[in-house]
Amino acid sequence: MFDTVLIANRGEIALRILRACRKLGLKTVAAHSEADATLRHVALADKAICIGPAPSSKSYLNHQEILLAAKVTGAGAVHPGYGFLSENASFAAAVESAGLVFVGPTSESIRLLGDKVSAKQAMAKAGVPCVPGSDGPLPEEPDRIVDVAERVGYPLIVKAAGGGGGRGMRVVVSPAELLNAVAMTREEAGRAFGNPTVYLERYLKTPRHVEIQILADTHGNAIWLGERDCSTQRRHQKLIEESPAPGIGRSEIARIGDLCAQACVQIGYRGAGTFEFLYENGEFFFIEMNTRVQVEHPVTELVTGVDIVAEQLRIARGEKVGITQSDVSFSGHAIECRINAEHPWKFTPCPGKILDWIAPGGPGVRVESHIYPGYVVPPHYDSLIAKLLVHGATREEAIARMRGALDEIHVKGIETTVPLHRRLMDEPTFGNGGADIHYLERQISQWDAASKEGSHEH
Ligand code: ADP
Repeated sequence: MFDTVLIANRGEIALRILRACRKLGLKTVAAHSEADATLRHVALADKAICIGPAPSSKSYLNHQEILLAAKVTGAGAVHPGYGFLSENASFAAAVESAGLVFVGPTSESIRLLGDKVSAKQAMAKAGVPCVPGSDGPLPEEPDRIVDVAERVGYPLIVKAAGGGGGRGMRVVVSPAELLNAVAMTREEAGRAFGNPTVYLERYLKTPRHVEIQILADTHGNAIWLGERDCSTQRRHQKLIEESPAPGIGRSEIARIGDLCAQACVQIGYRGAGTFEFLYENGEFFFIEMNTRVQVEHPVTELVTGVDIVAEQLRIARGEKVGITQSDVSFSGHAIECRINAEHPWKFTPCPGKILDWIAPGGPGVRVESHIYPGYVVPPHYDSLIAKLLVHGATREEAIARMRGALDEIHVKGIETTVPLHRRLMDEPTFGNGGADIHYLERQISQWDAASKEGSHEH
C-alpha cells in the first residue's frame, strides 16, 4: 500500500491535502508549475517537482508529466484535489494502468457520473429524485425534439451531457425558441466538451442549491454527512456555503441522505462525493454528482468533525470509512466565504502582489489559505486566495463571528471579495436564510441601482 502521495494541484487545496497526509503519516510530493515554485505546500512537502510552465494545459493538466513525476519521486498515489484532472476519467485510468492509486473513484465511476445523462439515469434507477426531463439524450429529428419538449413543459433548460462550470446550458421559455436553442447548445457542447449530446430539463424558477456530502469505501459502506446550502452564487459560481441549510427539516435531509448513500452502494462508488440538488417547494431534484472533494468541504467538517480529506486517503488505502452513520452527529452552524482576488462588485480578476496579509482568528474561525505577505497571485489560475470559515452554536452566532472575522482580515496590494461578504453579512435577506440561487445577482443589481441613484443626487 502507498506511503507517498503526489499532490497534483495547487493553492489552498494542495496545502489542505498536504496537512491530511501529514496527519496520517504519509509522505508528500508537490507537483507544481513553474509559476508555483514559491507556494506554501511546495516548501512543506517532502519532495517537490516541477511539471511544466505556468499555463495549466502544460502543467496541471498534463497527464504524461504528472505520471512521470510520480514515477521519478516514488509516489504510490495521486491526489487530484478539485478542478484540473480531478474529474478526468482518462487521467484516472492512466493512473490506474501505471499501477498507482487515484485518490478518488474508479475511472468507470468518473465516466458514468461525468456524463450528466448517464448520471441522471443511474440515479433515477437508484431511487434518487431527479429534475423531470427528457430521460436521456435528445433525438436528432426536429419533430421528435418538439414532442419531448411538450412532454417536459415550458420553461425548460437545454443542457449539455458533458457540460460543467456553469457552461453549456440554455433556458427556453417558448416553443418558438426551442430548435434554435437546441442547435446552438449542441454546437457549443461539441466544441467545448467534445460531446454534442444534449438533454432537456424542466427549468425551476427559484430553486435553492442544496448538496449532500457522502463518503463510500471499498467494503460496501457508504455514509452521508449532511448538506450544504450553496445558493449564494453569481454566474453559477458559489460564493458562500453553509450547513445546515436554513429551514429544511432534519428528517427530509436524512431521507435524501440515505437515498444518496444507498445509490453509492448500488453503483459501487468509492471515495468522497457530492450529490448536487436543486431544492424547490420542499422537493429535492438531483442535477449532477461531483466525484471529488469540493471547495466547500470544510463547512461539513466543521459541523460533523469528520476530516473528509483524510477519509479520502484512508479509503484510497483500502481502509473502511472511519465512522458509521449512527455515529455521525451534527453540531452548530458553519459558514464559508470564498475570498477571491477579484474586484468585490465587478468581479474582474485582480492578480498581483500581496503586500500584507493578516488572517483572522479566535474561537470558531478557520482559514484555509496558501497566501502570505509578498506572495504574487499569478494570473493563470482560479482567483480563490482564501476560504474563511466560521462555526457557531447557531446561525446567528456564526454570522456574528463571520462579521468579526471579515473586519479583522487584512489584505493589502490586491482587491478581494472581502467587502462584498462583509456587506452580505448585514443584508436582511441573507440574514433570514434560505434565499434562492438568484438572490445574489438580484441583490448586487439593487445595490448597483441604489448607488447610481445616490450619485445622481450628489
Ligand atoms: P455545471 O456542471 O455546469 O455546474 P449543473 O447541472 O450543476 O451544471 O447546473 C449549474 C447551475 O445551473 C445550477 O446550480 C443552477 O443554478 C442552474 N440549473 C441547472 N439546471 C437547472 C434547472 N433544471 N432549473 C433551473 N436552474 C438550473
